[in-house]
Amino acid sequence: MKYYSTNGQVAPVSLEEAVVKGLAGDKGLFMPEKIATLSKSTIDGLKDKSFREIACTVARAFFGEDIEPDTLDALVKDTLSFETPVVPVRKNCYSLELFHGPTLAFKDVGGRFMARLLGYFIKKQGLNDVNVLVATSGDTGSAVANGFLGVPGIRVFVLYPKGKVSPIQECQFTTLGQNITALEVDGTFDDCQALVKNAFMDETLNNHMALTSANSINVARFLPQSFYYFNAYAQLDRMGKAGEMVVCVPSGNFGNITAGLFAARMGLPIKRFVAANNRNDVFLEYLNTGKYTPRPSVSTIANAMDVGDPSNFARILDLFKANEDVHKAICSKISAYRYTDEQIAQTMQTVYSETGYILDPHGACGYQGLIDSKLTATETGVFLETAHPAKFKETVDKILSSDIEIPAKLQAFMKGTKQSVELDKDFVGFKAFLLRQ
Ligand SMILES: *Cc1c(COP(=O)(O)O)cnc(C)c1O
Repeated sequence: MKYYSTNGQVAPVSLEEAVVKGLAGDKGLFMPEKIATLSKSTIDGLKDKSFREIACTVARAFFGEDIEPDTLDALVKDTLSFETPVVPVRKNCYSLELFHGPTLAFKDVGGRFMARLLGYFIKKQGLNDVNVLVATSGDTGSAVANGFLGVPGIRVFVLYPKGKVSPIQECQFTTLGQNITALEVDGTFDDCQALVKNAFMDETLNNHMALTSANSINVARFLPQSFYYFNAYAQLDRMGKAGEMVVCVPSGNFGNITAGLFAARMGLPIKRFVAANNRNDVFLEYLNTGKYTPRPSVSTIANAMDVGDPSNFARILDLFKANEDVHKAICSKISAYRYTDEQIAQTMQTVYSETGYILDPHGACGYQGLIDSKLTATETGVFLETAHPAKFKETVDKILSSDIEIPAKLQAFMKGTKQSVELDKDFVGFKAFLLRQ
């Protein structure tokens, strides 16, 4: 199957090229030419399957034309060594816990799958030296680095803003060694992202080394995120509660919610979506006004959602392009809410005191979005709990006056030794560093 660019200025490419390149030549995002649908009987049968089996079914619908079924199944099974349970928080309101993977955040699913798929293509092409550049404000770096750890033929460079990620986040990508190099940039997240973008556009560098990106623009990273929407449905179906499923997704770059929209397109009965934002609310503004106005991001306590120009917005527009009134069509499927830091903290306190459930700041936006979207008596609400609260321990403990336990997985990272290369935020130094590799 071919993948076209949302900007439509370049010819469609193969899955292999879309994954290896990441971004299309005209800077558009790749989209599959067809979205296969699953039959009603397949969907009804999900409740009898394991998460891995469900994911294999969905993966075949996406990638089955391009990768041999057994190979694909093996890639999926190797990716999903953990569960994504649906946990009741209140009546008709469930938390889809996506934080049981190696780095305790939902990005593990996409990060691990992409690493395996890229590794497979590289081996097939006989390449032995591909370089993944990834800019991170905290969570992406750890999921991508851990996903790629030890994958032959691939080196990963994680660029992160010095002093601006939490100590727990930092140790998850600076202590790994092997094929992972952490670059500590004296600047902001935007500076890191600019360095990566400049590297992709630099001819000398691209002649010197094969470069690719592992941000959620890559189809291999964002599409697998649809797996857990199917898995959530299966779990609700087992409880007899899947009739009218409403899903609220704490959103930053909108890759996760876009994967949910893909699941719905494939026939998964999700009645409607809610996008929960922090103060970075350009999407809510788009729903309200029909105008999309990107702006610089502001810092919040839900920092993985501090995005002022969500890259996957282009994919959402593209998904709805067949409609006469695109804005109206989007509004009929997705609603949105925005929360200040004070509101996020309030939600965390209320839910903790009333139910004992500990939300992280991102999940708190998700929970509140679901409540504010006013579920009807027949709807079942699910919010995505995108990270384990211990990843944001300082913030969570301060708000809840708690001392939450750090899971063993996370403690193991904290025992490692930090290794990083310090860099200025100017491109010259970064380029010289890469040319030495
Ligand atoms: C990345 C991230 C998000 C936002 O996901 P998008 O796909 O960028 O919308 C939300 N919560 C956490 C914890 C994250 O790491």
